[in-house]
Order: sequence, then C-alpha cells, then structure tokens
Amino acid sequence: MGRLVMKFGGTSVANIDRIRNVARHVKREVDAGHDVAVVVSAMAGKTNELVDWCRDASPMHDAREYDAVVASGEQVTSGLLAIALQGIGIQARSWQGWQIPIKTSDAHASARILEIDGTEIVNRFADRKEVAVIAGFQGINPQTNRITTLGRGGSDTSAVAIAAAIRADRCDIYTDVDGVYTTDPRVVPKARRLDKIAFEDMLELASLGAKVLQVRSVELGMVHNMPVFVRSSFDKPEDIDPHGTPPGTLICSEEEIMESHVVTGIAFSKDEAQISLRQIEDKPGVAAAIFGPLADANINVDMIVQNVSEDGKTTDLTFTVPASDYNRARDTITASKGKIGYIRLDSATDVSKVSVIGSGMRSHAGVAAKAFKALSERNINIRAITTSEIKFSVLIDAAYTELAVRTLHTLYGLDQT
Ligand code: ADP
Ligand code: ASP
Ligand code: MG
Repeated sequence: MGRLVMKFGGTSVANIDRIRNVARHVKREVDAGHDVAVVVSAMAGKTNELVDWCRDASPMHDAREYDAVVASGEQVTSGLLAIALQGIGIQARSWQGWQIPIKTSDAHASARILEIDGTEIVNRFADRKEVAVIAGFQGINPQTNRITTLGRGGSDTSAVAIAAAIRADRCDIYTDVDGVYTTDPRVVPKARRLDKIAFEDMLELASLGAKVLQVRSVELGMVHNMPVFVRSSFDKPEDIDPHGTPPGTLICSEEEIMESHVVTGIAFSKDEAQISLRQIEDKPGVAAAIFGPLADANINVDMIVQNVSEDGKTTDLTFTVPASDYNRARDTITASKGKIGYIRLDSATDVSKVSVIGSGMRSHAGVAAKAFKALSERNINIRAITTSEIKFSVLIDAAYTELAVRTLHTLYGLDQT
C-alpha cells in the first residue's frame, strides 16, 4: 500500500463526463489499496474566462480581488469531483486552500507556498479511508487571511507541495498528453516521449516555455526529491493496471537516468518582446540607468546583448522582457530617457525565443554552433543569443518559430523514428 497524489488539469476535468472519468481513475488507485489525495484544476478555459472578467471589470484591478475571483474555478471542480466519487461509493471530501490550510506569501496572483499542514488529511486516510479532493492553484496568506493564487499553471505546484507535505510516495500529474516529450507534441508530431527526465532538464524546459509543468512544481520536486510522473487522463481508467508501469514520464534525479543524450529537448516561447536602445553612451553607469528602473518596476529582463562600440562613444543595447510587460517596460525606459541618453528606441513584439536544453551540454563543445549553421541554412535570422551550462536560446522572428523548432529537433536527433 502506498500514498499517492493524483493531479488532474483543466482538460481532464473539462465537463461532468470528464470528471466522472477522473473519479474512475481515483477509484482504481483506492481499490488497489492506496491512500489518495487528488488535486484538481478549474475546468478547461474557466480560469481564462475569470481572468477576462477581472480585466473587463477594470484593467487596473486589485490583485487581492483578482485572486478571490480566479480561485473560484478550482472550488467548483473540487466539489464536483467529491460528489462524483461519493456517487461511485468512494468516501471523499473537498478541501479549499484556506481549509487545509495551504499557507502562502502575500504576492497575489503569483504567491509562493510557505507551509502546508497535511496532518488532518493523513489522519482521515487512517480513520476513514477518505480521499482528499483539494482545490489546486489557491492558498491563503496567514497574515491577511486572504485567498491567494499561485500563478497560471499553479495546480501542478499545489500537487507537488501536497505530496511533500503528506510524504506521498509519488505525485502523478494527469494531463492531456501521455508524458513529457522532446518538444511540444502538438507542434512537432515527430516529438518523442521521454521515459525519464532529470529535474534539472525539466526545470529548464518548463522555464523556457514548455507549459506541461509549472516551473515552481519542478523546483519543489527537486528540493523534496519527490518523484513526479506525468501521464494521460485520457487512457481508459479500467485498462490501467495500478501495479504496472503505464506510459508516461518520470521526473527524477539525474543519477536515476542511465542513458543520457547531449540534447534532451527543445522549448519555445512566443511571450517575448524585444527593446533596442540605439546610440546609448558607452560609459559606466548606463546599464544601471536602464536596468535599475526596470527592476524597480518588477520587470524581468531576460536576454541582454550590447554591441562593442566602434567609435568608443556610443553603442546599441538590446534586451527582452515578457510580452505582457512590454508596454510598462517601454514606458519605464522612456521615462528615464534623460538619464540613459539614447537616441532612438526600437522594439518588436513579434519575436519568439527557441531554446535547446540538455545537461549533456556541460561536457560537449560545439552544440550551439551546429544550431546557428542549421538556422542560417533555413534563412532564419538570429536577433539575440544567450547561453548557460545546460541550454542556449535564440531570439528569432515569431513567424519562424515552428520551422526553427522542427529544424533543431531533427538536427539533434530527437525525431521519432
Ligand atoms: P493541464 O491543463 O493538464 O495542466 P497544460 O495545458 O497546462 O495541461 O499542459 C499540457 C500541454 O503542454 C500539452 O497539451 C502540450 O501541448 C504542452 N506541452 C508543451 N511542451 C510540452 C512537452 N515538451 N511535452 C509535453 N507537453 C508539452
Ligand atoms: N486553473 C489554473 C490555470 O489555468 C491553474 C492550473 O490549471 O494549473 O492557470
Ligand atoms: Mg497546466
């Protein structure tokens, strides 16, 4: 007998039929003798709708009220799943974030989990064999007593955090694909499912755009060494042997992975905007004058490229910010124009970032160089490049994203054969 967390994403609970399907997945594990805590997302599209309603009500809305609104999607699905489970004879109850409680910081809309008390859930496993159905994505700030949410995709993080809190043997993430692939299988049909992927590689894939897991959930998995298994909720519940190994991807520590490739996968993000400042003065303090105000405005700057000045007097500087922060970033820079002293500001929002990830890159030279050649042969212009030990990213025109991803996927031998 083991203890499991089962997390179901939006498409897995998209309507009452799908919720009944989830209930049968849960029943299978309960019947196999496991103690089960389930974490659910809102029905597919619900959170987007709630976010839009907040924007409609007021573009500059109070983040605390935004959280009160968007957390409601998960309240609905947790109650519905508890009802569906009871309907098939499984003892179950729903839990909202504040009831457990899942204590978080007060950073509304992107709160971090601070502490979870799993005692009551565990006691109920022992006393009543009760399944805990937990609303994902939400928590409560203990100082203000207000509902918080964990950022988009946050139910993954709720699931891994609950798994750590109740000392689960494994955290299963059920979604609409049957595992983590070498790149988004909806964009590259030749993408290959990975049997295992190291936390470190998964962390890079997630933070560089693969939305299959929220970044923070991978960090938590790594910190707590919690095995996270990504699998499909679309496999028929009755066809799965609860003691067998279903199709899926195990995210685990690097030592558990025997076979390793130089490149593990490719991620991309269209959520980028580029800002170039022309003819800034080439002197100490200019970078601080640019990036200081951006940091004060809580804008994350990602890629930065500064040209070497030709005349020793002026140079160009290019950087990227998330597309959602583009307007604020441009306004912030314009407001500091006097201090920075640039001649012209150019910008582009139709850009995307394509990233190649692999912990094997640490010990291999020339991995990135191959990509630059392959992209140039496709006439894809590279606007900016960043590299680190286990990944590199290129900024390109958004129209070439799919072509670039497919080209690199083939180049590094990731295509399914
Ligand atoms: P859920 O609603 O279950 O949380 P998400 O939509 O958040 O599901 O994440 C699953 C989606 O992630 C898939 O449908 C897939 O299109 C996308 N995805 C992006 N990159 C990858 C990848 N490398 N492997 C698998 N899925 C990926
Ligand atoms: N429902 C939330 C979202 O759409 C959380 C999640 O699905 O993980 O972002
Ligand atoms: Mg998700």
